[in-house]
Amino acid sequence: MTHNFNAGPAVMPQPVLAQIQAELLDYRGTGMSIMEISHRSKEFEAINQSAEHRIKTLLGAGDNYRALFVQGGASLQFAMIPLNFLPAGAYADYIVTGAWGEKALEEAQQIGDARLAGTSAAGGYRNVPHTLALSPGAAYVHLTTNETIQGVQFHALPDVGDVPLIADMSSDFLSRPTEIGRYALAYGGAQKNMGPSGVTVVLIRDDLLARASKSAPTMLRYTTHAKTNSLYNTPPAFGIYALDLVLAWIADQGGLAGMGARNTAKAATIYTAIDSSGGFYTGHAAADARSQMNVTFRLPDAALEKIFVAEALAVGMVGLAGHRSVGGVRASIYNALEPASCDLLAHFMGEFVRRHG
Ligand code: PMP
Repeated sequence: MTHNFNAGPAVMPQPVLAQIQAELLDYRGTGMSIMEISHRSKEFEAINQSAEHRIKTLLGAGDNYRALFVQGGASLQFAMIPLNFLPAGAYADYIVTGAWGEKALEEAQQIGDARLAGTSAAGGYRNVPHTLALSPGAAYVHLTTNETIQGVQFHALPDVGDVPLIADMSSDFLSRPTEIGRYALAYGGAQKNMGPSGVTVVLIRDDLLARASKSAPTMLRYTTHAKTNSLYNTPPAFGIYALDLVLAWIADQGGLAGMGARNTAKAATIYTAIDSSGGFYTGHAAADARSQMNVTFRLPDAALEKIFVAEALAVGMVGLAGHRSVGGVRASIYNALEPASCDLLAHFMGEFVRRHG
C-alpha cells in the first residue's frame, strides 16, 4: 500500500477514484466518457453548476459570492489579481510568509504598485509577521494562508479593516472551517485538497468583482468567467468533474468541520513525533504558525535526511523529501490522506530515531 505525502498533485480520496473508474467508460448512460462529451451538454452543465454550488455550500458563502473555475493555476492568479484590481494610481499590500507569497508579490510588481506590508523572511519564514505596515486606502491586501514549502500557516487572520482581503489558499482550501466572509477573493489550484491539477478555484465576492478591470484581455478578466459561469471557452472538464466528486466526498466527511478535525488530529500525530524525539527532529515553523497541511522538519544532517526519505519510501511512504529549494523533510497531509498514513509516519519516525539517533 502506498502512503502518498506528495505536495501536489497529491492524494485523492479512494472512493472518488473508484467512482471515476466506475463511470469512466459510460458517463451516466451517455455511452461516452466524461472526457468525450461537450462542455455545453446538459450533463456537463449540471456538473459545473453542482461544483459551484457545493463549494459555496461547504464554505458557507452567500449569494454575494461566485465560485469560478479557471485555468493557469494559482500562478496565473498572481497576475490576474493585479491586472484586475491594481490600476495605475492604486496600490496594494502584500504580506509575505514564504516562497509563494514572494512570487505573488514579484508578479504584482510587474504590473503595478505592490508593496511589502509585512514579512517573516528574516527568520527564514518560520512564522507569520506580528506587525504589519498596511497602507491606508490600499486596493487590496494579499496573503498566503498556508505556505506549502515552508509549512507556515495563518491560524488567525490579520485585521485589514475595510480593505478587501485576497488569499492564496492553494494548499489549505477546504481543509478547515473558514470565516469566508472575511475574504473578498480566495483562490487555489485543485491539486492539493480538492482534486486533480488543471482547474483553479476562485471564490470572489460581488463588491470586488464590481471593481474588476474591463480592459484586461478577455481570458484574464474575472467578469468574463463570472458572466459565463466559467464556460467562456472550453473548461478543464475532467478536472471540474473530479472536483465536484471530491466536494461531495468532503461534505460526506462532515464538511469543513469534519475536515478540520481530521486534519488537526493528523497534524498533531506528526508534530508529536517531532516534539518527542529529544531534539533529533526539529520542526521548521514556530509552534504558533505550524501548518496542518505541510509538516516541515529537519534531521541532524542532510545525509540522514536522505536516508530517512529512502527508508520511508522502501516501506511505502512517498513524497517526503522537502522542496528542492529548502531541503529537509516535508509531509504533505492534505484532506484525502488517511489518518493511518500519519500514524505510520509517526511510528516510522520513532523507529528511525532508535536506529540512527
Ligand atoms: N501558491 C501556493 C501556496 C502553492 O502551494 C502553489 C503550488 N505548489 C502555488 C501557489 C502555485 O500553484 P500552481 O502550480 O497551481 O500555479
